[in-house]
Amino acid sequence: MSYAITPPAIPSLPVIGSDQRFPVRRIFCIGRNYAEHAREMGATVDKDTPLFFCKPADAVVTDGADVPYPQATSDLHHEVEMVVALGGGGRDIPVEQAAAMVWGYGVGLDLTRRDLQAVAKAKSHPWDVAKAFDHSAPVSALRPASEVHLDADSTLTLSINGQTRQHGRLGDMVHPVPEIIAILSTLFELKAGDLIFTGTPAGVSALQRGDRFHAELAGVAVLEGRVA
Ligand code: MN
Repeated sequence: MSYAITPPAIPSLPVIGSDQRFPVRRIFCIGRNYAEHAREMGATVDKDTPLFFCKPADAVVTDGADVPYPQATSDLHHEVEMVVALGGGGRDIPVEQAAAMVWGYGVGLDLTRRDLQAVAKAKSHPWDVAKAFDHSAPVSALRPASEVHLDADSTLTLSINGQTRQHGRLGDMVHPVPEIIAILSTLFELKAGDLIFTGTPAGVSALQRGDRFHAELAGVAVLEGRVA
């Protein structure tokens, strides 16, 4: 068998403490998973109808590479989020079995063209152009779940040029990770290699060319980079 064009490379993330890499299959994201952030966006949390969207796997920016300022926007926003990497999957996963699907944890930015999102919301259009653009998913190296101990007081922070912009605690998530996995698996068959962005705490704001970002899931992973 031969391909008509050169097949694209498989996007992948580094693994902390290993020279192996984690291949990325799909990127799922949940919106409005912290009540304070939903409020700052003028939205309400609808716990019964979680908001999901996707990014293409090749939107990941890894290994501290620069994030090019995207085309077609003048309002690029940061959303710092815990990222969960799946090592297993399935359909209709019971919530009590969901945590066992997690292979590792990292921290990422759900970059958003906020101006295009506002247009999409106003016109009831899909969010793809606001969320699923090239280089829209910078992600740290992953730490294997066996080395990770998270609880409700674990913190997620983002500073830009040394100033704190976002700070949240995982206990404030509307849907904790096992619930996100269980609900997503009723909509999609999840598989090893899938990433899930688990929502952003309050404090989202604009990034400018030249900004340096430092995102941290305390004790687990750090993501540093620059908007070029
Ligand atoms: Mn987000």
